[in-house]
Amino acid sequence: MEKLAIQGGNPVRVKPFQNWPVWDEREEQALINVLHSGIWGVSAEEGLIDCFEREYALVHQAKYGRCVFNGTAALEVSLRAINIDYGDEVIVPAYTFMATATACLMVGAIPVFVDIDPNTYNLDPDKVEAAISPRTRAIIPVHIGGNPADMDRMTEIAKKYHLWVIEDACQAHGAAWKGQRVGAIGDLGCFSFQSSKNINAGEGGIILTDNEELAELCWSILNCGRVREGEWYQHEVLGGNFRMTGWQAAILLAQLTRFDELARRREENGLYLAECLAQVDGFQPLTRDPRVTQHGYHLFICRYDSSAFNGLPRHAFMEALQAEGIPCSEGYVPLYRMKAIQDGTRRLKRFLTGKESTEPYPDCPVTEKACYSEGIWFAQTILLGTRSDVDDIVSAVMKIMRNICS
Ligand SMILES: *Cc1c(COP(=O)(O)O)cnc(C)c1O
Repeated sequence: MEKLAIQGGNPVRVKPFQNWPVWDEREEQALINVLHSGIWGVSAEEGLIDCFEREYALVHQAKYGRCVFNGTAALEVSLRAINIDYGDEVIVPAYTFMATATACLMVGAIPVFVDIDPNTYNLDPDKVEAAISPRTRAIIPVHIGGNPADMDRMTEIAKKYHLWVIEDACQAHGAAWKGQRVGAIGDLGCFSFQSSKNINAGEGGIILTDNEELAELCWSILNCGRVREGEWYQHEVLGGNFRMTGWQAAILLAQLTRFDELARRREENGLYLAECLAQVDGFQPLTRDPRVTQHGYHLFICRYDSSAFNGLPRHAFMEALQAEGIPCSEGYVPLYRMKAIQDGTRRLKRFLTGKESTEPYPDCPVTEKACYSEGIWFAQTILLGTRSDVDDIVSAVMKIMRNICS
């Protein structure tokens, strides 16, 4: 049998996967143009930021786009736009990047953590309903890894209980649910253009919506509380300066010109990898709902079952896989276990009730399992190559399995 690379054998793969970011003279020229134009930020005349807002909204079938400096800011501005008040509750998945929850705390709302579906790692709709209280004002479904959450159920629950839906689509550029791109399926949708994301300007974010009133509020909140028809020093809404720069917009417009091509490649290779892994008992990709018509593939997430690998713990399997030349990671920790979130929640509750709160962790067994023994992430860049690059991933997993189980 071939010796595992971690035991000194030859690795399945020595070539690196696709570098990130992908760029060429389009980005280079766009930056030079901004430099020479002298318009480096938001301007009175139509500029690149307005142009990107329009283009990105169009790509996502939304009426309005509002650029901000990052995805975290997009979430905060969105929460302010729906007029979240101190002590309001917002339902968020326990399995996501911390910003989904910290954005709530930063505007004085309490994130209520709800467990995920074991097949998709997205918010479990049944558990969402059980977590609703009289203080609940909004739900933030996260399209984890670019795989759209069940937006039918989210919309239905929101309607029934009169809640807002803010989609955290920071990982879901291009993703679609029943033919509709994510972002404006809920009331507001937030995207990130941070370095790792599938459209990248180093930093950046956008809010999408079909609701004109919310779009205007977002404009005000991110523009220091100004109103469009008002005077420069007339501030009507509590807001801040959340604006994007012209440099970011220029890069994003260039990135957008190759987005379809990259998204198509991720989709093709993602489907192919899922098909290959369907044969591998104990290493299953997350389920793609048949209503998902396009997957964002920011991450390709698999569920590792150590019992199919003779009890080999996840960390040991990952070390062996990395040694074979396949980069992977274990992903998140449950958000309610994070000190920052615990401290922020405790402080807010102390202010609201005058008492120290000592609440136990929410009951999220699926999140615990995903974080501590099951979830394995592959970055989107592994899907940007050829089929034979994808084959290497499958070969490496099979090689480990043969060695461990023989
Ligand atoms: C990246 C990300 C964010 C935050 O975006 P930034 O641009 O890094 O501030 C929020 N939520 C999720 C799910 C993310 O992946």
